[in-house]
Amino acid sequence: MIKRIIIENGAFAVLNAQSGQTTCKGTMVIENDRIVHLGESLPAQYDTSDAERINGKGLFFLPGLINTHGHAAMSLLRGYGDDMVLQTWLQEKMWPMEAKFTARDVYWGTALSVVEMLKGGTTTFVDMYDHMDEVAKVCEQSGIRGCLMRGAIGLCPEDVQDAKLNEAVQFAKDWNGKANGRITTVLAPHAPYTCPPAFIEKFVQAAHDLDLPLHTHMSETKAEVEQNVKDYGLRPVAHLEKLGFFSRPSFIAHGVHLTDEEIATLARYNVAVSHNPGSNLKLASGVARVPELLRAGVVVSLGTDGPASNNNLDMFEEMRLAALIHKGVSGDPTAIPAAEALRMGTVYGAQTISLPDVGLLEVGMKADMVAVDIDQAHFIPHTDLVSHMIYSASAKDVKHVWIDGEQVVKNGECLTLDEERIRHETQQCFEQLLQR
Ligand SMILES: [Zn+2]
Repeated sequence: MIKRIIIENGAFAVLNAQSGQTTCKGTMVIENDRIVHLGESLPAQYDTSDAERINGKGLFFLPGLINTHGHAAMSLLRGYGDDMVLQTWLQEKMWPMEAKFTARDVYWGTALSVVEMLKGGTTTFVDMYDHMDEVAKVCEQSGIRGCLMRGAIGLCPEDVQDAKLNEAVQFAKDWNGKANGRITTVLAPHAPYTCPPAFIEKFVQAAHDLDLPLHTHMSETKAEVEQNVKDYGLRPVAHLEKLGFFSRPSFIAHGVHLTDEEIATLARYNVAVSHNPGSNLKLASGVARVPELLRAGVVVSLGTDGPASNNNLDMFEEMRLAALIHKGVSGDPTAIPAAEALRMGTVYGAQTISLPDVGLLEVGMKADMVAVDIDQAHFIPHTDLVSHMIYSASAKDVKHVWIDGEQVVKNGECLTLDEERIRHETQQCFEQLLQR
């Protein structure tokens, strides 16, 4: 039996229209997991008898938001170390605590983040962490779409490195395509400054063997770039290029410190960049050259990074920051207009992680969709709704969310996970981590 949803009297974000029109008013029809109609009214003689009908009045429908870089379980360390330099923060605060994380901690920490993301309109997230089987389980249970990878730090003896690589490969094989196809997997050496070249090369080889994409942190801080030059005689882009990293479909997180030549190299290899403005600002890493990247044809999407360096998972905030900081830095108010910021949070995210059928509200696309309550003071008058999403909205304005045509958030409540229990368990996990 076909499951049908009909949304009437709605306003829908249109992000790739040639006309420049960014909103379409009318009716959407979803059959099972796909959008099958979007127009002024229902198709003639459409059988509505067994359909769920939703009145879209007062709602603005967006493609589900796509968070292209993060470490969800780090929500357990939210607020545990703030206002610190990246290396000190990692070495003195994050890494010692993370070394004590058990599978149980990762499960609850991830669940906490996924509740927050779903309620805030994020329908797909990228996660690089350890104990990834737990993250995959949360994807299965919550209905969220996940692009998952076991991140591996190679600052350890070779046998330990190999064990991590094997774990990453096994995870990628076990979970790719699972949860009704909502899970895809990637291989991810953590960063050039935490992984020796030979270790990165092993990941590149494995990605070739398994036909998987690659992801890593790159050029997040100036110090890290300078260290790379000292250690290997090359800046990180040339270094990764030499190791064959870009011979695979790949995307990098941050890319804050890039030269014109490096931007050209990323464009040539179709390497996408996950821009994490909130995290970069908080850690004072700098401001990525996003307008230049976009002009060079690089796909730039948005990520929150881990909840300990942000400290929330509100993708509306990342879109707003992306739209604002590049105006401020460049002195050009036309840098990153609202519709472009919304594309960075949606369709460019889908392109970053190679998902061809999510990220746009169009016939044939997956029904991953967010309904924002626009009958609120900060959205009146209803002028340019796309502009409102970037300059006025926050995660708290999300009313309903669907993924694969299944409703996962209704009237602001997560239907698939038990939020009250998750909040209780994660508080316990944190307190136990302090004792351990
Ligand atoms: Zn990160």
